[in-house]
Amino acid sequence: MALPAGDLPIVALVGRPNVGKSSLFNRLTEAPQAVVEAAAGTTRDRLYAEADWGGGRFLVVDTGGLAFEPNDTLQEQTAKQAQVAIAEADAIIFIVDVVTGPTPLDMDVAALLRRTGKPIILAANKADSVGRSEGASEFYVLGMGEPYPVSAYHGMGTGDLLDAVLEALPAVEPPTEEDDTRLRVAIVGRPNVGKSLLLNRLLGEERTVVSAIPGTTRDSIDSIVHYEGTELILVDTAGIRKRAQVVPGVEHYSVLRSLRAIRRADVALLLTDATEPFTSQDTHIGGIITDETKGAVLLVNKWDLVAKDPHVMRRFQPEAQRAFRFMPWMPTLFVSALTGQRVNRILDTILAAARERERRIPTGQLNELIGRATAAHAPPSVRGQRLKIYYATQVGMRPPRFVFFVNDPSLMHYGYRRYLENSIRREYAFHGTAIRLTARQRDR
Ligand code: GDP
Repeated sequence: MALPAGDLPIVALVGRPNVGKSSLFNRLTEAPQAVVEAAAGTTRDRLYAEADWGGGRFLVVDTGGLAFEPNDTLQEQTAKQAQVAIAEADAIIFIVDVVTGPTPLDMDVAALLRRTGKPIILAANKADSVGRSEGASEFYVLGMGEPYPVSAYHGMGTGDLLDAVLEALPAVEPPTEEDDTRLRVAIVGRPNVGKSLLLNRLLGEERTVVSAIPGTTRDSIDSIVHYEGTELILVDTAGIRKRAQVVPGVEHYSVLRSLRAIRRADVALLLTDATEPFTSQDTHIGGIITDETKGAVLLVNKWDLVAKDPHVMRRFQPEAQRAFRFMPWMPTLFVSALTGQRVNRILDTILAAARERERRIPTGQLNELIGRATAAHAPPSVRGQRLKIYYATQVGMRPPRFVFFVNDPSLMHYGYRRYLENSIRREYAFHGTAIRLTARQRDR
């Protein structure tokens, strides 16, 4: 069945450690390996990226990059990857290593994967090391059909592999005329943070009127909420209910599901658990929201379980700011889905974020602002060359997107981009939403 318009198929990379998953990930997506995070200069791994092969687009997810339990054995880690892929991917690239040949662990993973109905493409990596075809042909024993010999390192064979992947993927529906402009909201977070209870609360609010619209995506139901004259669509509400029954231990399932929901939304409600605040999974999901340039509201849920004293919020705030330091624009609400405390503030906060996403800065004002910013703090020089910004313009809303015309885009470094973003935000808050700044070459 076709995926709804605007969605992209997900291709998961599965394989035991050291077979070359991240090299293949980088090769297929041509993405930089890691994203430099906030001002602190820390990096986070890129979990997924878009791939484009001859106009066929899909998302590649490195399941090995999901944060599994630190004391998982290799077997457990690999089996979990396979489960994540089985649960959420549209196709799976199973990567093996021609240098080692088939291993018992490969056989186990193959057995797991074979039981799913998902298309599986077998990539025999490091095929540059031995004679190309004979090394790969050993892998017929896995019973997964023809192995594709590739070298992630040298880029060899990836064209044939990508052809096979595209062949296996479901079609995406073309966008329709009335693809609507209604505000779309995703409720996301790790299992057990209270998503389904909150969903029921929101749907049960007195001031809201609810109706369900089935079939927007294969196995999900969206809910429409009418609130203060606005129609909001809560995306993938079926997924939220289903998640309650996720097999224990397959927590990471939620990251891919969140990815899908976030991509279809304008604003994400990022739920966290006040009794277990701000884990790496929470920040992973925050990273997706940022990468997708969405709006977000941080909900610290289960607030009823926190022992109250006059300073308790002031203690939580800096922790939240630290954990989500790459999204300082995100508003925080301390809520209880159980008692309903402050739940009535959520929809208003979403609407406010949505309004910010529609803000437009006139080009004249934007360039004045940039002029002041560059005068106060000139672009640093890189390899003896200095970035020159000729002018900037806002090219879009929802999300707000800015293009900077410069002498050489490679000179626009992360730190300076961040400085420009902060300068824009100082005057035009864009509170509650990510914004995107890109640099484009412009001859003098
Ligand atoms: P989901 O997996 O994110 O959908 O989480 P659920 O909505 O199923 O909630 C997980 C558990 O946490 C359930 O037992 C809920 O009753 C409980 N829970 C959810 N929100 C709250 C809250 O605000 N306060 C308290 N005390 N419990 C909550």
